[in-house]
Amino acid sequence: MRLNGKLALSGKSVEIEVCGEKVQSLREIKSTNDEIWIAPPLIDIQVNGFAGYNLNAEDVTPNDVNRIIRSLWKVGTGFLCPTVTTGSFERMAKSLGAIITACEDAEIDRSVVGIHVEGPYISPEDGPRGAHAKQHVRKPDWDEFQRWQEVADGQICMVTLAPEIEGAIPFIEKLRANDIIIALGHTNATKDDIDAAIKAGAQLSTHLGNGAHALIPRHPNYIWEQLAADELWASLIVDGHHLPPSVVKCMMRAKGLSRCVLVSDAVFLAGMPPGRYQFTDREVELTPDRCVRLVGTDYLAGSAIELVRGVENSVRFAGISLEQSIALATNQPARLLGITDRVDIDEGREANLIVFRWDKSACQIDLIMTMLGGEVVYQNKIESKG
Ligand SMILES: [Zn+2]
Repeated sequence: MRLNGKLALSGKSVEIEVCGEKVQSLREIKSTNDEIWIAPPLIDIQVNGFAGYNLNAEDVTPNDVNRIIRSLWKVGTGFLCPTVTTGSFERMAKSLGAIITACEDAEIDRSVVGIHVEGPYISPEDGPRGAHAKQHVRKPDWDEFQRWQEVADGQICMVTLAPEIEGAIPFIEKLRANDIIIALGHTNATKDDIDAAIKAGAQLSTHLGNGAHALIPRHPNYIWEQLAADELWASLIVDGHHLPPSVVKCMMRAKGLSRCVLVSDAVFLAGMPPGRYQFTDREVELTPDRCVRLVGTDYLAGSAIELVRGVENSVRFAGISLEQSIALATNQPARLLGITDRVDIDEGREANLIVFRWDKSACQIDLIMTMLGGEVVYQNKIESKG
């Protein structure tokens, strides 16, 4: 298969020939059509569900995981960390088991680049806890975590926790010794807690600016402290609800793009019509403008966007280029996870890419194709006729 377009990460116009699983040749050509872009598939390090399927449902099945991942290919997300959130030991183990069983399908396995466990070792306080169920929030327990890692076949690669809770710092040290990425989130940490976590090996702030109190002291506070810590990367939910446009712009400039990663934090409502839904044991509402809230509160309960919309919004909100924005959802998470070879579009590499049309004036990406390991896993039928 031969593809022509502009490479989003380098800006070069190229002709790519894909043969079998690999890019057989890549040669630079004179720009023919500026609107067609080629980029690596998007990598989402925080996905709780999609298209009506919830990874954290009591009755989650491997088929649900399969449906989530195949639906994500249709919106340009080729790689992800399925995210298992706060619950009982058994419920979280069930989610982990469903992911691992789903990975017996080689196509699904190729897309799962690790598992993110968010909670249950987080702040019990209203606000920082977000939509995580209070009765399941608890102190870090290394034995419990090891049992999860066993169920997960060692695939847990990232843990989001609150560093201020009892036992968190030694727990972070153990995670680090096991090459697991430690993210701070759903936290009410002081500067000292954050400093201690960094010293123990914390590398990331999960959805910085969210999982927070509605009102906090203007300074100091845990948002400024994490924003100022150069050791910490930040993941950001750029759906227009979780962070106002001005905050996205300021955070990206303060943190620097080389330490920012876009996440969808999508819950099962992504891709569903507006309305009230049951979400684990809480009732949530999806508004017509794609905002998910716990009914009767101002607390957001995950997002209902696709990561590709976060890429568009970052261009709109932060005044960055498409190339820079694409990197926030491809090269950046790949660097964080240590999988940059998966997003390197070059001769001899595995052919992982998306092809899209970019409408600069509308800031809109129209996906034409998703290719993983040389296989077309999604093709827009209307586009491909043209
Ligand atoms: Zn969260």
